[in-house]
Amino acid sequence: MEENLREKLLKAFEGKLTKTIAMYLETCSRCGICTTSCHVFNSMPRPEYSPAARAEVVRRLYKKYFKLQGKFWPSLGEAKPLDDTALDDLDRAAYSCTGCRRCMTFCPFGIDTQQIMSIAKLILVAAHAEPEILSMLADVSISKGESIDLIKQGFIDGLERLEGEVVEKWKIDAEKIPIPTEVQEADILYVALAGAHSIIPSAAIFNAACENWTLSFFEAVNFGAFVGDPGKTRLIMDRIINEANRLNVKEVCICECGTAFRVLKQMSGKQSFKISSITEVHARYIREKRIKLEKNRFKGIITYHDPCQIARNAGIMDEPRYIIKHLTDNFTDLSKKPEENWCCGGGGGLVAMGQDSHDFRMKSSKVKADQVKATHASILVTACENCHSQLSDLNKYYKMGVEVKFLSSMVADSLI
Ligand code: SF4
Ligand code: SF4
Repeated sequence: MEENLREKLLKAFEGKLTKTIAMYLETCSRCGICTTSCHVFNSMPRPEYSPAARAEVVRRLYKKYFKLQGKFWPSLGEAKPLDDTALDDLDRAAYSCTGCRRCMTFCPFGIDTQQIMSIAKLILVAAHAEPEILSMLADVSISKGESIDLIKQGFIDGLERLEGEVVEKWKIDAEKIPIPTEVQEADILYVALAGAHSIIPSAAIFNAACENWTLSFFEAVNFGAFVGDPGKTRLIMDRIINEANRLNVKEVCICECGTAFRVLKQMSGKQSFKISSITEVHARYIREKRIKLEKNRFKGIITYHDPCQIARNAGIMDEPRYIIKHLTDNFTDLSKKPEENWCCGGGGGLVAMGQDSHDFRMKSSKVKADQVKATHASILVTACENCHSQLSDLNKYYKMGVEVKFLSSMVADSLI
């Protein structure tokens, strides 16, 4: 590796080295408590898949370049130079971690391996060594945002083709628009994913609740966050913030996308509008009796997968259970403590990497498949697109015998 590239990468590292991250890098006592908390290690017990071993890849570089001992006596502190081999190690560590943060809940020091892996991802981005597909998806998303005025009309035409299906789920007055856009002062700006499945059920529910809502022109998903590029993450997030401010909405509601929700909720800073997940909004409608659901429309045992970014990392665990209570009398939880639920194994950009990550995603998530099978459920419901895709793949691979469903579509199908 050339010296000027190394300097550039170390500068990127230093820029991310907050006091908190330095503390995570200084503190690990190598107690090993976190080892079996990781679904990857649990499914594929190899030393390199323990959270502490992943973090060690970054920690060695930290010792070499940011600690005196590492600079002068590298062999004493297990410091390692930043070279091409180190880049390969960073790639293996970062892209075998889904950022689920389950390990953090078990670590006595609360060390956040996801944060440490964000340094690994940042160095890979600075070296142009990140997975090409993730950067490409982020770039497409950004350029789509830049040319929004050109594609607006096509988007609205596409929505008109979905209106019939929305009305089929919930009839509204003829003068009302089933999927409104550009509504100034709307109470809710709903940010969906590309695809009718993310728009139709939610539109029906908003209309059933007589909500004053408007649909965003932008997709919720933030590929910048998956690839760990703070600049691209910000650009993708800012489009939604600017739209919300332009329309002067009271609340931004993010669809079933864990990463999109967590990025906006926890990384956007103070905003003039409230930020909610669609699951919180649906629970609120039920609580306020703005919608009513037919119970037991879906037969058999129903279980719920907590998306890590919505549950463990954003605290939304009661709301989905509250909704499900109104959908069925036959609910079985996957684990006693939702905050300790196993990750689906598809986070951190792995699902977006498609076939490239398929083999790893399947093998590293055996523990999740076993957990689902143990419930004998016939419906596995979740509230995140990424989890839905991964769980559907696991369903086929491990013959779990469940139907994987979105919580919002079950709510829409049960509207009375
Ligand atoms: S964040 Fe999740 S995937 Fe990553 S090391 Fe921790 S438990 Fe494993
Ligand atoms: S539990 Fe915490 S302190 Fe112990 S090895 Fe894991 S990261 Fe290090």
